[in-house]
Amino acid sequence: TVKTGTVNVTLIPGDGIGPEIAQSVKEIFDVAKVPIKWEEVSVAPILVDGVSTIPADAISSIKKNTIALKGPLATPIGKGHVSLNLTLRRTFNLYANVRPCRSVEGYKTAYDNVDTVIIRENTEGEYSGIEHEVVDGVVQSIKLITHEASSRVARYAFEYARANNRLHVTAVHKAPIMKMSDGMFLRACRELAPEYPDVKYDEDLLDRVCLRIVQNPGPYADRVMVMPNVRRTLTGLGCVCVAARAGGGRGRGLADRVGSACAQLYGDILSDMCAGLIGGLGLTPSGNIGKDASIFEAVHGSAPDIAGKGMANPTALILSSAMMMRHMQMYDFADKIESATLRTIAEGNCTRDLRGKSSTQQFTQGIISKL
Ligand code: NAD
Repeated sequence: TVKTGTVNVTLIPGDGIGPEIAQSVKEIFDVAKVPIKWEEVSVAPILVDGVSTIPADAISSIKKNTIALKGPLATPIGKGHVSLNLTLRRTFNLYANVRPCRSVEGYKTAYDNVDTVIIRENTEGEYSGIEHEVVDGVVQSIKLITHEASSRVARYAFEYARANNRLHVTAVHKAPIMKMSDGMFLRACRELAPEYPDVKYDEDLLDRVCLRIVQNPGPYADRVMVMPNVRRTLTGLGCVCVAARAGGGRGRGLADRVGSACAQLYGDILSDMCAGLIGGLGLTPSGNIGKDASIFEAVHGSAPDIAGKGMANPTALILSSAMMMRHMQMYDFADKIESATLRTIAEGNCTRDLRGKSSTQQFTQGIISKL
């Protein structure tokens, strides 16, 4: 625990590579003398009435501090397990998931001009987790969207647009197919748009946005894209997949084949695609903004394939910590740490995911030497 500061922030190192990248952040904050005191908690699940849940002291720490930095949490698959990420989102009403994605100067990819901001509704849609077995082998998964939550995230997007001088909000949807749910989301956005005459508002289809961004990301650099929390097209397969995973049996092969598609929702698809354009998941931060607290985290998961090997890229969590500091109005510390991190990458001191040779520690030391 770093004891240099005055503001308490909850730190959840998380699973897999989580503790390694959290260690980098702690060392960097220590050297930069950021006035933050980490309150480190584990969210390793405990069983209550046969259902896994988050320990009470982790919840009370976030409640008290209202700000947390979180490493990735592995989502257990099977009966009796609730996604801990989902539990945190629900407990703290983390309704807006903000995912900026910007080209990293000095790290060459096909494009130098990626600069997207995706804001995703975080509590509803198919992340509601409402599922039940209709008959053996057939499971129904319900997408739940309310006007209230749609309106809340839409307002956040318009406010974000103003605060960050990106005066263009695009609602991304699949309303021609999801007529009622996405239709209502669009209605909520349209109702608010007149309150923000300085912000241009328009709408676009998810697939068309994906196509256009990979052809030319330039036009998306002036805007904020807001979207509901909805899976794209694999609703039926997704449902079968969940059933097969939970119960094993004949559906398991199908579950394994379509498994990764099942978890993909609009914002996930789009933000992972944008991450791919700038160099991968090791680079993209996010913030979960809520009514009762805000939790900042990398977009990526626990990367079990490289955990414990000293290969993890801590950049995404470091940039998430910079988002967190800006949220706390610690702009100078955020700028200093972000700039040191990006300059380290530009010098070629990179982890392997960015075609470099550095270990997590060597990269971290490179940043520290610039502070
Ligand atoms: P992942 O993001 O963990 O890994 C995908 C690929 O990207 C892997 O090859 C991994 O090695 C690489 N990668 C990811 N982050 C990296 C980093 N910082 N540095 C270098 N390489 C990195 O996705 P996954 O394998 O599908 O998921 C693993 C676990 O993480 C699952 O249990 C999933 O549910 C969970 N998950 C958690 C969160 C979260 O807590 N917010 C988000 C996504 C996935």
